[in-house]
Amino acid sequence: MHIIDLSREIHHRAPAHPSHPPVVVTVWNDHSEIKRAGKTEFTSKSLSISLSDHSCTHVDAPVHFNPDPNAASIDEVPLENFYTEAICLDLAPAPRKHEATVAEMEAALAASGETIKPGDTVMIHMGIHNELYGSPAYVHDFPGLSVEAVHWLADHKITMFGVEAVSPAPEGEPNYLAHLACAERGITHMECLMNLDKLVGKGRFRFAGFPLKIKGGTASPIRAVAIFED
Ligand SMILES: [Zn+2]
Repeated sequence: MHIIDLSREIHHRAPAHPSHPPVVVTVWNDHSEIKRAGKTEFTSKSLSISLSDHSCTHVDAPVHFNPDPNAASIDEVPLENFYTEAICLDLAPAPRKHEATVAEMEAALAASGETIKPGDTVMIHMGIHNELYGSPAYVHDFPGLSVEAVHWLADHKITMFGVEAVSPAPEGEPNYLAHLACAERGITHMECLMNLDKLVGKGRFRFAGFPLKIKGGTASPIRAVAIFED
């Protein structure tokens, strides 16, 4: 068995979507404070982290994009949704701000040699992380899915899909439409994934990426991984 890590590092001032606050990491304790109990001295090191529930590699909860008062928060989404079979579609290289079409999705699926099964997680590789991470384009000029492509995924009865960008579709109206389509079709998505290039051509794998149990959370950072049984 081997595992491919699909998660970005959570670090101070990590690139964040403009509509969410950035990650702030500070030192809470650094072994400089000596505590004593009996004859024993002890020091420790720990950090304090302030972050959005949409920080770095994360999964959106329905309550984020669906104004329905019954829409699930992240602590209410079944854990089975975060441990599924998965495939990766290769749409790289995608031009900046491009909206991938249904024809492009179908061509990528055919090229993968796989089928999409009900309940699958589908990763969308567009070459964004390796090309744009750390640049202004990473949070503004990234490509993504057309709203028709989101519906195409929902038609295949997927559980969720994942992208490398900070949003599932290009900035502005395409992004709003993609989120509304997820609400309408009862699916969700992960954002800010990396290493999807390492999944291309590898066929079917096991996805795992459990959210933190944030009460009422609108999303959660996840440690997204692809598991291959050798
Ligand atoms: Zn999000």
